[in-house]
Parts: sequence; structure tokens; C-alpha cells
Amino acid sequence: MALLTDRIILDRQSRADTLGLREDGTRHLLPDLAYKRLFVANVAFYGNPNGYESWVLIDTGVPGTQASLKEAATRRFGGRAPAAIVLTHAHPDHVGCLRGLSEHWDVPVYAHPLEHPYVNGESVYPSPDPGAGGGLLSRASLARELKPLQANGRLHALPADGSLPFMPGWRWLHTPGHAAGHISLWRESDRTLLAGDALLTTSQQSAYAVTCSELELCGPPRALTEDWPRAAESLQTLAALQPELLLSSHGQAFRGESMRRGLDRLALTFVTQFTFQQPLSALDGIA
Ligand SMILES: [Zn+2]
Ligand SMILES: [Zn+2]
Repeated sequence: MALLTDRIILDRQSRADTLGLREDGTRHLLPDLAYKRLFVANVAFYGNPNGYESWVLIDTGVPGTQASLKEAATRRFGGRAPAAIVLTHAHPDHVGCLRGLSEHWDVPVYAHPLEHPYVNGESVYPSPDPGAGGGLLSRASLARELKPLQANGRLHALPADGSLPFMPGWRWLHTPGHAAGHISLWRESDRTLLAGDALLTTSQQSAYAVTCSELELCGPPRALTEDWPRAAESLQTLAALQPELLLSSHGQAFRGESMRRGLDRLALTFVTQFTFQQPLSALDGIA
């Protein structure tokens, strides 16, 4: 299983957020796209902060970060509420502030239908595998956050035609494996990819650590990934897009050719390992 432990180190020059923190606490990627790291997970802000168009929040961070997220949104968009919240999936580090924010702004929430039972509290995810190196999320304290969220009637299915509400030019892509209803967001015109937890741009060890210094590509967070062969297929789908800009929910943003080469290699590694071989066991450390 040596392939899985291969580290695909990312080139520091490929970082896409070299301008540093903006006044609003976000990191600039494009005129209409920024992200903020909230404790351990990224949230993305789509929309031009200088315009009057609607904006969209992608994911809602870990529990307890609502004030920080609201402050960034207020400073960035001048108090305008988003038109919608889009969820890549419903793990606790992505829906931590969902209930509070969706109520505060009174906005619709869009997620893949396969994630709806988790958002609505009809199902709970399996507990994180404590032996899989998930760090913070493997701890019982945060595992208890895998509880019903109840979107209070605001939850909607993503449009069946692949479009994303209030995000013209963007499409959602079903990228299951890490979670059954996991999606990634893709804009063809400038080849921008928001990959959620389908892959990490930091090491597994630092994905759930407060600091995040390693710059590397690796597969989805091990502790919570449900279906590794499907996760491998999703990685292949994302690599085939040949993105110019890549933002994962854990790690920093990257752009350019060396990132694409790393993504190709990561996808090949996983497809080889999980599509043509037996799934790994707990002894391999990632079950
Ligand atoms: Zn996740
Ligand atoms: Zn995550």
C-alpha cells in the first residue's frame, strides 16, 4: 500500500492566495471568489463584494465559528444577506453554523438529495473511525456533533440540470465517496474548482489541525470517507477537468500546471489502488 502514502508535494509558487488576508478576513482568489479558514475548514464566498449582485456562501464551517463567519460576510458584502447557502456535504465541519446562519439570513440551503437525511436529522453518519488518523473529528467530543441539524424547511435539492442557484456559469458535480451526496463546484469559463472534501491540499494530519502548513495533495479525509472506490472515481473526474484554480475545504488554494500534474498523479494513484484492488482493511490504516 505504499502508493497511498506517497506525498504529492505542492509547489509554493503554485499557491493561489498570495495576496494574504483581506481587510474582511478572507483570502482573495478571484474578483468574485474568496475563502476563509474557520478553525479547521474553509468556507467560500462567491459574489463580487463591490457589486450589488447576490452572493452565495459555500459551506458553513465548524460549530462555534458563526460570529467569525458572520463578521467576514458583513465586512465583505456590507450586510447584504446571501441569496443561498450551498453545501458540499453535511459533515460537521461543513454544517457547523448552518442552522444559525440559515435562520439569521432566512435563506434557502441547497445540497445533494443524498445528504438531505443528514441535514434533516433523519439519518446520522457513521461515527468517525478513531484509528484512521482523523485527528479532531475522531474525538468523541466532535463526533457528537454528528447530530440532527434540522434545516427548518429551508433545505432544497440542487437543480437536476446541474446548474447552481444564484451562481451563473457554475455547475455542481456529484463527487461521491467521501460522502454519498458529496458535490464539487465547477466553473468552466475560468476552470475554477471547489472540490470540497473530495481531496485535500494539506496533509491528512493537518486537515483537522488548527495550523495548516503542509502543502500537499492527498485524498479525502480518512476518518469519515465512506466509499473509497467511489472516492477514487470522483478524484478521476476532478483531475479530468484540468482545473486552473483549485480550492479544497481543507488546505490552501492552488493554481496552474504543477497543481494539475499533482492532481493527475493523485487520481492515478487512487484509481490504481481502489478500482483494481481490494479495498483496504483497517490494518492498512485507512479503513
Ligand atoms: Zn467531510
Ligand atoms: Zn471536511
